[in-house]
Amino acid sequence: MRAGTIQTQHSIIQTPVFMPVGTQGSVKALTMQQMESLDAQVLLANTYHLYLRPGSERVERLGGLHGFTTWKRPFLTDSGGYQVSSLGLFRDTGLEQLTRITDEGVYFRSHLDGSKHFIGPEESMKIQAQLGADIVMAFDEATPISTQAYSRQAMERTHRWLERSLESFVKQQEGRRKRGVHTQAIFGIIQGGDFEALRRESTQFVIGAGTDGIAVGGATIGQSDAETERNVAWIRDLLPKAKPLYLMGVGVSPQAAVAAVQSGADMFDCVAPTKLARSGLLYIGKLAVPDDDPRQAYFDSPISSGRINLTNTRFADDSKPIDPDCPCSTCSAGYSRAYLRHLLKAKELAYYQLATMHNLDVMLRTVTTLRNYIVRFSERKNSIAG
Ligand SMILES: [Zn+2]
Repeated sequence: MRAGTIQTQHSIIQTPVFMPVGTQGSVKALTMQQMESLDAQVLLANTYHLYLRPGSERVERLGGLHGFTTWKRPFLTDSGGYQVSSLGLFRDTGLEQLTRITDEGVYFRSHLDGSKHFIGPEESMKIQAQLGADIVMAFDEATPISTQAYSRQAMERTHRWLERSLESFVKQQEGRRKRGVHTQAIFGIIQGGDFEALRRESTQFVIGAGTDGIAVGGATIGQSDAETERNVAWIRDLLPKAKPLYLMGVGVSPQAAVAAVQSGADMFDCVAPTKLARSGLLYIGKLAVPDDDPRQAYFDSPISSGRINLTNTRFADDSKPIDPDCPCSTCSAGYSRAYLRHLLKAKELAYYQLATMHNLDVMLRTVTTLRNYIVRFSERKNSIAG
């Protein structure tokens, strides 16, 4: 685990960092001012969604993601590969039958209107350049949990796509430089399914490609803290120290965030904190750091699951805030569990905002606090060594 910084065109990101997900160019239920008040450092936006609606060309005309949304800090866009290779979005919709992955790229139908589309590495790079995030991702095939033969096939395709992504990325950046628009950074993605040999092979390939950062993707990342750690442990000795390590889709809970940082993650993102909040699942607890040693840190919660479920009837008369020890704007304003539960039941829009503020505050604060411990711990170690 380590603390560091990433210089982008819009600000310096202090790592480790949790990146809230703003699928449609907005973190659900919150405004950009609220995201700033939470001190979110970087937002993730989804290429697939923004390409289909409102259209990446339109976003570009309206000033790119920064101009369009008013967010002044960095954005990261995913490649669209995850969505179009049918892992999450199309499951059980019938549309996954219409998704076809070839060496060229992915043919798919829009989940909005059924219209036909194609995205390959070149298209992904073009769309991501139009969106104008600070960090873009190479086009990849997110490998589902599968056989070794398929995982190898998908990994090799991802490697070929990485080469094509880079070639296209370089051209896009030349164009941006000529137009006087800020340039972007690109991360390559390690795939290889649940197989150590493939993961190591993929890691060496991605490192060899010389991208600005290294991401770890695939269905086995973020499944559980243990699986994430095992995946990173397989490749740890190969990873270059000078490049940020991004664990994709990791951070389902504050405990998972702590575990990700302890695994060595510099960046990670997960839709869960906001999604859980909207369904009534709210984090309870705070970071504990025995002996001020961040390696021993854990998320200390009085509840084994680390969260309460507001839909439970026992909260109907509960006048306490979500978490009496939480300094977030929702808890410190004194909103009670009973009132929030009522808003949730009545589907009142204020609920989504109040609940999301709490969960994101817990996530972001946990990671920032842990970072401070890492910084102090390494200073202490250095002064002892010196
Ligand atoms: Zn709170």
